[in-house]
Amino acid sequence: MTAPLIECQNYINGQWVAASGETLESRNPSDWRDVVATFPRSSAADVDAAVAAARKAFKSWRLVPAPARAEIIYRVGELLLQHKEKLAQLISREMGKPLTEARGDVQEGIDCALYMAGEGRRMFGQTTPSEMPNKFAMTMRIPVGVCALITPWNFPVAIPCWKAFPALICGNTVILKPAEDTPTCVHYLSQLFHKAGLPNGVVNIVHGLGEETGRALVEHPDVNLVSFTGSSETGAEVGSVCGRTHKRSCLEMGGKNAQIVMADADLQLALDGAVWGAFGTSGQRCTATSRLILHRDIKEEFTNLLLERVHQLRLGLGTDPQTEVGPLINSAQLQRVNHYLEIARAEGTKVLTGGETANTENLAHGFFFQPTVLDRVTPEMRVAKEEIFGPVVGLIEVDSFEEAIAILNNTPYGLSSSVYTRDVNLAFQAMRDIEAGITYINGPTIGAEVHLPFGGMKQTGNGHREVGTAALDVFTEWKTVYVDY
Ligand code: NAP
Repeated sequence: MTAPLIECQNYINGQWVAASGETLESRNPSDWRDVVATFPRSSAADVDAAVAAARKAFKSWRLVPAPARAEIIYRVGELLLQHKEKLAQLISREMGKPLTEARGDVQEGIDCALYMAGEGRRMFGQTTPSEMPNKFAMTMRIPVGVCALITPWNFPVAIPCWKAFPALICGNTVILKPAEDTPTCVHYLSQLFHKAGLPNGVVNIVHGLGEETGRALVEHPDVNLVSFTGSSETGAEVGSVCGRTHKRSCLEMGGKNAQIVMADADLQLALDGAVWGAFGTSGQRCTATSRLILHRDIKEEFTNLLLERVHQLRLGLGTDPQTEVGPLINSAQLQRVNHYLEIARAEGTKVLTGGETANTENLAHGFFFQPTVLDRVTPEMRVAKEEIFGPVVGLIEVDSFEEAIAILNNTPYGLSSSVYTRDVNLAFQAMRDIEAGITYINGPTIGAEVHLPFGGMKQTGNGHREVGTAALDVFTEWKTVYVDY
C-alpha cells in the first residue's frame, strides 16, 4: 500500500498557509518513484510575511520569562518523545538513513529540548565589583531578535531543533527554512510546535529553494541573525551577505575528518570506530571519517580487518530494519560521489572495495553507492583534502605520530578528529595539536552530545558553536548595566 501524499505548507503566524505559487516534490531516495510530499516554492513575498509575523511576535515573546518559555520548549520535547517512532519512520523514508539512526536523529531533538528548557532557569549574567564607590555593575543576556535558521537535509530533525530551541529559550523568534530534500520532517515539527502552545509568530516555517527562499531570508533587512548549517560554499555566500547587511551569522559548514590509528591501539575498538565513522549515514555527516591515517606497523592487519567488516555491511532501503547503510540523498549527490571516484582513480589510488553505484534489482530505483575503501591515498590528493560526503574512506600510511597529526591537519576544514592509542602522552599531544573543534580519544569522529559545544575551526565554522551553553552566546547579546546608587 502506498502511503498518502503529504502536503507540506508554510507555517506563518500560527497558521498553515497554502502555497501561493508553484509546488515542488520531495521523494524517497531509496526509491525515487515514491513521492513523499509536496511543498511550496516560497517567494520573497512569503518570506516577507514570515519575517513580519516573527517581528511582531518578538515584541511579546522577549518579555515572557525564560522559565515560562522553557515550559513550552519542554512540552515540545515531550511531544517529540511521543512522536519519536513516527518521525523516525518519516526520516528514513524522506532522507534514507536507517531506522536506528533516524531514531537517534529524533532523540537529539528531544535531548536538546530538555537541555535548553533547563537553561530557562539558568540564563545567568554576572555581578561585578565596580571601580567606583556606590556603583553596581552587572551583565545580562538579551535576545538578538528575529533569527533565520537555515538547515541541511542530513539531520532533518536534530539540526532544526539544535537551532530552534536555543534561539527560543533566549527570547528570539525564528523563521526556519528547511532543506528542499527534507521538507516533510520539518512540516511534522511545525505540528508539534503548534500543539505545544507556542504563541503565533514565534516559530515560522518557509519551504522552498535555497537560492530563492533561503537567499531572500538571508538578505531580508528585518532579520537580525542567520544561523546556517550546510556546505562551506553556501556558507561563504551566506556569511558575505550577512556581512554586507550587518547581521550576526553563525555558520556550521563542511568537514574532512580523520581517524588516526597508532600501532599500540586497541584494533577492534579502532575498527568499530572506523566502520561507524565512515559508513554511518552513508558518510553523509559533517563529522564522517573520510580519512584513516594508519601507522605502518598495523596498516596491513587493520586494512584486512576493515575489508572483512565492510563486506558484511548491509546496503538497503532506509526503511528496511535490516539496513546498515542507506542511499545517498539524491542523484546530484550520487553523481558527486561517482565524480570523486573518477578523481581518486586518476590520482592513482587503489579501490580495495566498492567504488561503484550499487545497482542490484532491489536498489535499482534509489541512489545507492557501495561502501568504498581507497588505498594508497597521499596527503596532497584532492580525495585526501576535499569533502566527498559519501560512503568513501581513504587509507593513508604514516611512520610517526607527528606525521599523522600533520596530515590530519592538512585540509581546509577543522570539524572532528579521532585518535586511537593507549599512550596517554600521545592522547594529550593530540588534544593540543589537532586543528579541529572536536577531538575524540579512542572514539569515532561521530557522536556529539547536546550539552557540549559543537562546531569547527578553519573553513568549517566562523567561531561560533552550536548547542550547550555556547549556543546562548550565539542567540543573545550581552548587555552591561551600571547602576549608581
Ligand atoms: P547546502 O547545499 O549548503 O544547503 C544547506 C541549506 O542552505 C539548505 O537549506 C539549502 O536550501 C540552503 N541554501 C542553499 N543556497 C542558499 C543560499 N544562496 N542562501 C541561503 N540558503 C541557501 O548543504 P547541504 O547539501 O544541505 O548539506 C550538506 C553540507 O552540510 C555538507 O557540506 C556538510 O558537511 C554540511 N553540514 C555541516 C554540519 C556542521 O555542523 N558543521 C552539520 C551538517 C551538515 P536547499 O536545500 O533548498 O538547497
